[in-house]
Amino acid sequence: MNTARNVPELFGSMVFNETVMKERLPKDVYRKLKKTMREGTAIDADVAAVVATAMKDWALSKGATHYTHWFQPLNGISAEKHDSFISPTDDGGVMMEFSGKELIKGEPDASSFPSGGLRATFEARGYTAWDPTSYAFVKDGSLYIPTAFCSYTGEILDKKTPLLRSMEAISAQACRVLKLFGKEVRHVTTTVGPEQEYFLIDKRDYAKRKDLIFTGRTLFGAKPPKGQEMEDHYFGSIRPRVAAFMQELDEELWKLGIFSKTKHNEVAPCQHEMAPVFTTANIATDHNQLTMEVMKRVAQKHNFICLLHEKPFEGVNGSGKHNNWSLSTDTGENLLEPGRTPSENAQFLLFLTAVIKAVDEYQDLLRISVASAGNDHRLGANEAPPAIVSMFIGDELQAILDAIESDADYTDMTKTKMDLGVSALPDIPKDTTDRNRTSPFAFTGNKFEFRMLGSAINIACPNIMINTAVAEELRLFADELEGAADFESALHELIKREIKAHKRIIFNGNGYDDAWIAEAEKRGLLNLKSTAEALPRYTDEKNIRLFATHGVYTRIEMESREEALLEEYYKTLHIEALTMADMAREEILPACTTFQNELAQTARNKKEVGVSNTMEVDLLRKVCGLTEELYSKCGELSDAIAQAPEADAKRLSDYYHDTVIPIMNAVRQPADDLELLVGKKYWPFPTYSDILFYV
Ligand code: ADP
Ligand code: MG
Repeated sequence: MNTARNVPELFGSMVFNETVMKERLPKDVYRKLKKTMREGTAIDADVAAVVATAMKDWALSKGATHYTHWFQPLNGISAEKHDSFISPTDDGGVMMEFSGKELIKGEPDASSFPSGGLRATFEARGYTAWDPTSYAFVKDGSLYIPTAFCSYTGEILDKKTPLLRSMEAISAQACRVLKLFGKEVRHVTTTVGPEQEYFLIDKRDYAKRKDLIFTGRTLFGAKPPKGQEMEDHYFGSIRPRVAAFMQELDEELWKLGIFSKTKHNEVAPCQHEMAPVFTTANIATDHNQLTMEVMKRVAQKHNFICLLHEKPFEGVNGSGKHNNWSLSTDTGENLLEPGRTPSENAQFLLFLTAVIKAVDEYQDLLRISVASAGNDHRLGANEAPPAIVSMFIGDELQAILDAIESDADYTDMTKTKMDLGVSALPDIPKDTTDRNRTSPFAFTGNKFEFRMLGSAINIACPNIMINTAVAEELRLFADELEGAADFESALHELIKREIKAHKRIIFNGNGYDDAWIAEAEKRGLLNLKSTAEALPRYTDEKNIRLFATHGVYTRIEMESREEALLEEYYKTLHIEALTMADMAREEILPACTTFQNELAQTARNKKEVGVSNTMEVDLLRKVCGLTEELYSKCGELSDAIAQAPEADAKRLSDYYHDTVIPIMNAVRQPADDLELLVGKKYWPFPTYSDILFYV
């Protein structure tokens, strides 16, 4: 089959999209549905009924038998409960039914989803509500209805609802600002393109490692003789087995209407990347959740396992997800595109200033939005951005901001000086801005690239933070400028003032450099090294105020989210610690014993026949010493797990971070040393060399 020719036909073939809607819905219903989608208003019951029937008939034609309200609970995994369309008929048969009520609202028993203590179990009912701004689709025999998820008492329990709210918030404020520039814009959308990194390893290797199965990452493993130092993997030719996987992945994603665009090898062996074409933040989030799921499923078919963990292998690059973010008007203007005319420049610089101020004032929220036990291994490691949030804007923009700040071109402030000192911004070549790969938040010509995200994350959270923080700055700017007697001079003063106040967040140098850590501290920037340290700042009063102002989260919702995130953190560490102790005791120590026994016997035999046994005795001594150390550290680890205090999530997180992690490191050290001494045929599971270099 020539897939190249079939792509247009394949694309979106499993999606209830515009084309299908136009085809299958009566004109007036289609128009009403579109209005709902555009304006985010409630949908009429009679419209819903017609849409439901059309959706069901279409889904049946695609082989679906079930439907599910597909939503994104707090723990980042997508959740679904499948109901079949069947409904009994009088004559004992069945017919396929789907009502408007079933389309708009589902009622899952939600008691087992994390809620951060929001609902007592006796009232653990959740409501799901269709999000008509994201298309329904058919996958694995079910009609999937993208959905928001609320508790019985109305608090939100998912990630989609706050994302939609944050998009509304930034749209409203951006429209106000644009009005000041004489533009009547009805809607501003946040656009997002997430680049997804992943590892592919052989299924057989995976099956032999409990750590990969239970925790998604290796808890043991000595550095292989060859790492990524030759840099021969990145953009290298894709091996046939991987190429076959990528081709099927693309086809499956295209069917679901996901704009999978770019694929290539990444820096580490076995590491790859997929980048989609950007779309609205909401759809990008749904699509990225789907992408991760489809990656895992397609990998299995090719006898691979797709690892989405942020750091599956120590000493080897981890996987991230670059969140490319921008703002676009309903008239098609990218608000982060430097302009060509003086007025466009001023507008661009105002939006740029809003982002700079937002990132500086809400560094904590950006850090928190990417915090997880897994990502802690990545942030601050030498190939990922540091845990310190800073921005890169490039030399060209830096020069302009410097000029504004120092009034270099502002000797006289006349109205014609709307251009803020530069008649047209220089073209900002993409390759110069994108060169700095070390910045956590980089301006890349017409968008920002937030690079702290780990590969496994749901991108909703970071985008909720960015959207709301920028919305707040735009709100303050609009308040100030709407009342200004002289718009142009007020605008100039505002930009100048804010750049001065927030330029500390801009750092165009090497973020991996140790000197930067010291410099950042001098500038007063936050360095929240671990999730345990970062998360409790989520509910700082300034953050609660921010989200309340824009109707994104209530105080209760934030408190419950913080609790849920802390719980997820220490539970992850708990499982890792248990798995580690188990592998050491059940697998590594017995293997070492067998090896030692063999060595001891050989040494005795050699002595008996009168030849030198120095090598065996020496090796035996080393292995014995390390084995005893491993055994004793293992005991410490089990004690530490058993002694975890009965405490709240915050204290437990601190306990696992401060007490358990150091012991886990102490267990790993002798085990990794042993791996290098104990004969290969004795070692109980595949090593890094086995896993990383034979796919
Ligand atoms: P690279 O980073 O590899 O040089 P690009 O910068 O062209 O590639 O794009 C990287 C990602 O950024 C892609 O997913 C792309 O769709 C996305 N992107 C491009 N423009 C925008 C935009 N205006 N808003 C959001 N994402 C964008
Ligand atoms: Mg990029």
